[in-house]
Amino acid sequence: MSKEELLETHEIGQGQTRLIYPTNRIIISNAFHNANKLRRVQSRSEIYDINVKDFANEKIEYLRPYFEEIYTQRLKSPIDRISEDFKKNKINIVGKLGETFANPEEIEQKIFILLQEYGFIDKSLNSFQEIKDSLDRFFMPKKNKEIINEITVKNLFEIIKSIKELYVNNSYKRLYQTNQVLKNSLTGNVEFYSKLALFTELYEAKILNTSKEDSFVECIQCEHLTYKGVLQIKTSPQNLENLKCPFCNTELTYFVPYELNTEIYEVVKSKDGLLLDAFCNTLLENEINFSINDKFLGDIEVDCIFEDESKKYVAEVKMYKLNTTIEKLKSKVRNHFGKLKEDAERLLTLPEFQKKELIPILLINFQDNNFIDELQAELKLANKDELSQNIRILNLIQIKEMLIAYD
Ligand SMILES: [Zn+2]
Repeated sequence: MSKEELLETHEIGQGQTRLIYPTNRIIISNAFHNANKLRRVQSRSEIYDINVKDFANEKIEYLRPYFEEIYTQRLKSPIDRISEDFKKNKINIVGKLGETFANPEEIEQKIFILLQEYGFIDKSLNSFQEIKDSLDRFFMPKKNKEIINEITVKNLFEIIKSIKELYVNNSYKRLYQTNQVLKNSLTGNVEFYSKLALFTELYEAKILNTSKEDSFVECIQCEHLTYKGVLQIKTSPQNLENLKCPFCNTELTYFVPYELNTEIYEVVKSKDGLLLDAFCNTLLENEINFSINDKFLGDIEVDCIFEDESKKYVAEVKMYKLNTTIEKLKSKVRNHFGKLKEDAERLLTLPEFQKKELIPILLINFQDNNFIDELQAELKLANKDELSQNIRILNLIQIKEMLIAYD
């Protein structure tokens, strides 16, 4: 599993400036052990999203004149003054804000002065209660030109409601989009319930903790919108299967975020860290000395070096995103094989690598031994030189077997 697959990731920007960063959230969901179920969840929320958006736009159009009036009467000039002030003297406003928050006891009063200074509130008002009263007067129905009347109030509530629903739906979509990645890497040979058991163990070991973030549940057995919502769930993963629809009593579809322990998160976040860490542990268990991240010839960094009586091993650790096509994965491994060979050739020019036979290892995160063996055979057929024949492509289990065989 690569870090992008284990953790929820966020993307910022596009193309060249695209940045993907993992968060320490892990989302547990039962939406994926049944493809039909997932499709239903997705299509329901896509369609629903469009409905809510159209509805909200319609209402916002209707209320636009009122908002504009409020804006020009009450907010435009203070906002203009702030941006003027900001253009003229950036420090000034930052300093003012800093002053405001420096002394907690005087915050209310300072904010007040600041708001008056920029004209958000009249100089005649002296407390928050007075502001409230003044706003009440402003929003009171006036003859001919009512800002607030029954219809606008109703519309306003409906907009707030649609914003809430969009929020619910968007958090939902974000959850299943993320989890789809997680699901791909975990369902290979791990059944959903054993995965749940694994998460429960992690939870009990405090590696996984509950999150303050919202969870999402929906009954996909009942009619759409019968039972659906965002809520707080703080419980062990093993309790999640108790989430039942109150109407039809079937298991709810849920997306429940958890947070990864900070230290473990740091390991996962570091490049290829998780696999290298697991590998180092294996070496320790087998009482094999090793060193990591050694640099040679300026630009070669070897992830891990260890040796036995006759051989010196240089291991390159690669974690691949597994939710891609077999062809893409193969081409990545081919590239890394080539790079490893190049590096090994250059290392062989150094005296310290000439004493023993050099065995380059490409340690990867594929679980499928057949796939690795096929790829390995293909690469060795294409590269007949001695060094290439020495290269081993292995996953963690295979390397463990290899190390045990040496004892
Ligand atoms: Zn139901």
